[in-house]
Amino acid sequence: MRKKLIAGNWKMHGTLASVSALSHVLLQSVSSTGDTSLVVFPTSIHLQSVSEILKDSPIAFGAQNFYPEDSGAFTGEISAPMIHELGCRYVLVGHSERRQLFGESDNLIAKKFLAAQTAGLTPILCVGETREERETEQTEQIIRDQLAFVLAEVGLAAFENCVIAYEPVWAIGTGLTATPDQAQAVHLFIRHWLSRHNERIAQKVQILYGGSVKSVNAGSLFAMPDIDGALVGGASLLAEEFLAICKAAG
Ligand code: PEP
Repeated sequence: MRKKLIAGNWKMHGTLASVSALSHVLLQSVSSTGDTSLVVFPTSIHLQSVSEILKDSPIAFGAQNFYPEDSGAFTGEISAPMIHELGCRYVLVGHSERRQLFGESDNLIAKKFLAAQTAGLTPILCVGETREERETEQTEQIIRDQLAFVLAEVGLAAFENCVIAYEPVWAIGTGLTATPDQAQAVHLFIRHWLSRHNERIAQKVQILYGGSVKSVNAGSLFAMPDIDGALVGGASLLAEEFLAICKAAG
């Protein structure tokens, strides 16, 4: 039985005061989240403060971004070992905002996936199609290509310690959510794709749904057999909403 995981992507939001306050509220309420795992992703500059609040707590924290070299002349970047040293457990890899706004290629994404694991972090690999790709019935092809690129670079064993997030690009930050049936169909496709390589890994990997998840739609998404939680953007900045989503998971 896969445990549910709820991840909050705080993106480039908040102040030191507001993210600290949010972390404290989550910490105080965490006992009411049951058997669900929680992780939050503050900005890199807020990570140190959030780590001090959440360290040794049941709420994990992670980084939204990093560069896949351990150290060197990479002005402005942070590395996976630096993130790990802070106590992070997870990193986001392949988020559509990084793919689209910052031109991250499949090649860079595969390198980041590998660098994260090498540093002892669990990558949450985001995949998803655009609206046009869905409308032209390319969804499965796009997801398969995004996964296959990483697989070719890192090998199957690397999928043992990762989380996959299905995030239709048309649903991120738009208020549009995939219906539970639409999301389940893609999650099942991903699990079948994994099971063609290794059934045990396919059954083990948590597959999260992301795209305008809110407390009102979370329950019906989590009722689907292959949806193992959510990657939540906007709603994760509101403590009550985020906690209600966590509660819906379990
Ligand atoms: C995200 O940032 O991954 C996301 C799913 O955002 P939102 O929940 O705001 O759509």
